Amino acid sequence: MPAATPKVYVVSAPSGAGKHTLLHEVFERNEGLEYSVSATTRPPRPGEVPGRDYCFLSEDAFRARVDAGDFVEWANVHGYHYGTLREELERLIASGSDVILELDVQGMRSVKAVYPDAVTIFIAPPSLEELGRRLRERGTDHPEEIALRLRNAEEEMAARGEYDHVIVNDTVVEAVQELERILRRNRHDASEE
Ligand code: 5GP
Repeated sequence: MPAATPKVYVVSAPSGAGKHTLLHEVFERNEGLEYSVSATTRPPRPGEVPGRDYCFLSEDAFRARVDAGDFVEWANVHGYHYGTLREELERLIASGSDVILELDVQGMRSVKAVYPDAVTIFIAPPSLEELGRRLRERGTDHPEEIALRLRNAEEEMAARGEYDHVIVNDTVVEAVQELERILRRNRHDASEE
């Protein structure tokens, strides 16, 4: 179902809230949906593919692109720079697809200022206790790292009232359905304009 007017969606979530699994499912199941690949100075994690997950840049290269005005927005998140490339976003919008941007809260605010029609979605864990449990079960992080992520999550959760929609990721199946309902509703509204 192609969008009548392409929509820009901004999705944010605390680390461990299950955003990646959720988005992966939604991209698998829906056509006419594109993912905006951000640039970052963070080194690639195992399994990440340049150009698919991120455009990986050195600090100097990132800075040069900031100076050239190449970013719609950029922010410092957990010590690294992340930014939305104007060219990438405009190309995707021009393709007629809906576009999903995965950004932190700062990025959401900046994009909303440039694209007031952007639909913003916050993926929340059922509770901070559950988030802590999921992070510990994942077993990939040190206890200090988990504590830091939980502190950040608390801050991010405090901003969820700024989003158009909040999806509580209790089960992936239900969260996917809820996100798809939001996409469908916007496509339906757009086709009636
Ligand atoms: P990660 O390093 O785990 O991939 O991402 C860390 C954080 O950076 C996440 O909250 C993610 O949503 C955010 N992020 C990723 N790309 C961008 C971007 O282009 N701009 C902003 N502002 N945040 C981003």
